[in-house]
Amino acid sequence: FDQMDGQIWFNGEFVPWRDAKVHVLTHGLHYASAVFEGERAYGGEIFKLRAHTDRLIESGRLLGFKIPYSADEIDSACNELLRRQGFADAYVRPIAWRGSEMMGVSAQNNRINVAIAIWQWPSYFNPEQRMKGIRLDMAEYRRPDPRTAPSKAKASGLYMICTISKHAAEAKGYADALMLDWRGHVAEATGANVFFVKDGVIHTPDPDCFLDGITRRTVIDLAKRRGYEVQVRTILPEELESFTECFLCGTAAEVTPVAEIGPYSFTPGDISRQLVADYAAEVQPKRAAAE
Ligand code: PMP
Repeated sequence: FDQMDGQIWFNGEFVPWRDAKVHVLTHGLHYASAVFEGERAYGGEIFKLRAHTDRLIESGRLLGFKIPYSADEIDSACNELLRRQGFADAYVRPIAWRGSEMMGVSAQNNRINVAIAIWQWPSYFNPEQRMKGIRLDMAEYRRPDPRTAPSKAKASGLYMICTISKHAAEAKGYADALMLDWRGHVAEATGANVFFVKDGVIHTPDPDCFLDGITRRTVIDLAKRRGYEVQVRTILPEELESFTECFLCGTAAEVTPVAEIGPYSFTPGDISRQLVADYAAEVQPKRAAAE
């Protein structure tokens, strides 16, 4: 991934992709003092850019550091980089981390670095494949108690258990894993939020110890606009059996139906199909319609 052409925005400058390097004694690498975002551009426009930028700044704050750029500066950097990279549809990855000036748990004076990379990451599936649904394993690790980690931050350190869980699922032939939280309640997948359907009502866990995804909030709005009831509540793993539809949602995953979680099967149906379509329409730039 480090040998591509193009540019990366690195601490205020546009540098060649291959030259955007850090030192091995980077604090962010040793102690996970890093926060990041994942965004998608559709038709040359980054969907909900400001919400992602605000979350990046807030994630840094939760890790005790101040990102040395304003939200306006980060938004402009993302937009300018998208233009320079020349993609209409792309994935946008801003990241901020403590640098290599001091080594040790304490790194009060280390520079807060910021970089943005943009690459082409097509939707995981075409609509037909998507409606077949993916298969999820049950993860062994659980989302931590908010008293154990800053669970509202999109912090690199919190992804350690996601990568372990996703690799374990993939080794067994699953696409992803469903994680419970520290209490044993249904939480989310390794990089996406989860929704269920039963008797025409949509259910999703309360994001009190994991990321309240920007896509999650968008999907709840879209579902309500369609007149569906959405219950945000505690969901126990014993209930999985009773749901008829299940889908994941996130910036990268978009809305992706689930066909199986361990021993339980779901049939992607009308509500999943509707929300896949509504989300695909929602992310398209609105300017064409306004002209
Ligand atoms: N949970 C986790 C662990 C994630 O990595 C993501 C993707 N950022 C999400 C949920 C969904 O968040 P969003 O919709 O803001 O992309």
